[in-house]
Amino acid sequence: MTQPVANCPNCGAKIVFRWSSSVQTVCEFCKSILVRTDVDLKKVGQVADLPPDSSPIQINTEGKYGSKAFVVVGRILYFTSTIKAAGTSGTS
Ligand SMILES: [Zn+2]
Repeated sequence: MTQPVANCPNCGAKIVFRWSSSVQTVCEFCKSILVRTDVDLKKVGQVADLPPDSSPIQINTEGKYGSKAFVVVGRILYFTSTIKAAGTSGTS
């Protein structure tokens, strides 16, 4: 399978999509979020600086889950808030 190649519309760096069906990626150099259209790439945003990740599972880590092989291609950081249950009591 050929990997589509283009240039970042923001900094001009070479952008390689891992799969021909990929429509979105991030420029490794300027962190622009890029979406592929029929003819070109469009910058749609910017990735924020992420805190260091101490996980042993880093980008490009390869492995197998059950019978399926995988490659880690990205990272998503979710912010959650914790709601504490106050004043709960009772017996169970
Ligand atoms: Zn760029």
